[in-house]
Amino acid sequence: MEVQTLKYPAIRNYVAGQGVDSSAATLDVMSPLSGQLISTVPLSSAAALDEAVQAAKVAFPSWSAMPIKERVQIFYRYKTLLERDMKALADLVREENGKTYDEARAEVEKAIELTEFACSMPQLIQGEFLEVSKGVEARAERKPLGVVASIAPFNFPNMVPHWTIPNALVLGNTMILKPSEQVPLSAVKIAELLKEAGLPDGVLNIVNGDREIVEAICDHPAIQAVSFVGSTKIAKVVYIRATSNLKRCVALGGAKNHLMVLPDAHPEMTASNVAASMSGCAGQRCMAGSTMVGVGAVDGIVAKIVEEARKIIPGQNLGSVISKEAKARIEQHITEAEAAGAKVLLDGRNAVVPGHEEGYYVGATVIDYVTPDMRIAQEEVFGPVLAIMRTNTLDEALAIENANPYGNAAAVFTASGSSARYVMDHANAGMIGINIGVPVPREPFSFGGWNESKFGACDITGKSSIEFWTQLKKTTTKWNPESRVNWMS
Ligand code: NAD
Repeated sequence: MEVQTLKYPAIRNYVAGQGVDSSAATLDVMSPLSGQLISTVPLSSAAALDEAVQAAKVAFPSWSAMPIKERVQIFYRYKTLLERDMKALADLVREENGKTYDEARAEVEKAIELTEFACSMPQLIQGEFLEVSKGVEARAERKPLGVVASIAPFNFPNMVPHWTIPNALVLGNTMILKPSEQVPLSAVKIAELLKEAGLPDGVLNIVNGDREIVEAICDHPAIQAVSFVGSTKIAKVVYIRATSNLKRCVALGGAKNHLMVLPDAHPEMTASNVAASMSGCAGQRCMAGSTMVGVGAVDGIVAKIVEEARKIIPGQNLGSVISKEAKARIEQHITEAEAAGAKVLLDGRNAVVPGHEEGYYVGATVIDYVTPDMRIAQEEVFGPVLAIMRTNTLDEALAIENANPYGNAAAVFTASGSSARYVMDHANAGMIGINIGVPVPREPFSFGGWNESKFGACDITGKSSIEFWTQLKKTTTKWNPESRVNWMS
């Protein structure tokens, strides 16, 4: 039998600072750019998870006892390693996810920003202190939870792990990371760089797999908190299962983000923003503006959006989608919308990139006269497709936005301050853009949607995540026990 050599070594789990062989069945890892097999990933069992959790438990006492100002030193060093290896990290993201080099590099730049934020934690988590009665002081300080878990999706193999790793670890927790089985390569490199930066063994462990390992994470009694990023269907399952096992959970789900375009919007800026929002990372962003609502006379702006979208060329400034199945699903959405009466202004079906004929490409697609009852207006398409609906008033546009079950982002393009303010007040989403097509809140602001785009109380990044990754310890002290002045002894 011919033995195929893989471009990347077979992925192993990472426990207590070492790659660990496993006898588990494996899944093929394909590069969506070429449709070629590039590695394999183990579908680990609950026993493999337990091994990693034990390593994380062993590492916790000394890691959590280290002063936070020492823990952040490791992350300062790590940041310089991310900068040093930027190209290698971006190449990995590109290879396993299919995005363009610039998009992959932007992901690593965001990982650096997230690491910088974690390095500022000593300034952010100072506790509180008060003399609560004569000679008696109370103080409150933030303590880590213990072993925590982070479950990641395919669309940002480098950035999403950095939403959780730096903050949770700097705050004193130890972690199990479960990368997406579709993109397991970047996580290996992240672990290697953290080890090089001086992270003690066992503080970060990686367990690969799919459903079985996610369920085992939700059930494991020694895991205190679970963060999840992925589709709404699985986010719900994970949130319910983890919290029913009395764990903390924040679970981010899918999205259907509406871009409302008013006739007074700046035409060129709006067109380039809308086209970039729907097609960046091949539309596989939870912040993608996949749905536009044109309010009133916006034909001129729609024409410019099509003009901009025509400049987006698969294999050049447009990456591939993640899999053959994703390509088929996206193209099916376009076909169905057309059959339902929508007008395809730009058709990205059957895109082929010369030299990459087996890659999973869908061209930029713009569909006008979509109506709210169509499937394309309701479901997350997760491809470079813009569905345009039309209304006469901003209130009608907001009614469409408000009726969708998700609530990640919403944006308005307008030159009117009062229209912008009206959308800020009335859009039913966690992240709002005013003349911005992808309104990702940069650090120290936190990332998180509303409604079916997020389950759980805290956001996953920024200051809000401090609450998620820590618990408050309150100590009341009488320094002079001989004192007779007292209240509540
Ligand atoms: P997914 O839900 O299929 O997978 C996410 C994770 O769940 C993976 O690690 C996967 O192994 C695991 N998983 C898959 N099926 C499972 C099951 N039946 N039971 C338990 N675990 C399971 O998501 P995806 O396709 O990898 O990522 C794309 C989705 O993620 C999109 O819906 C996108 O909007 C969403 N996303 C949301 C955000 C956000 O911030 N809200 C960010 C990135 C991605």
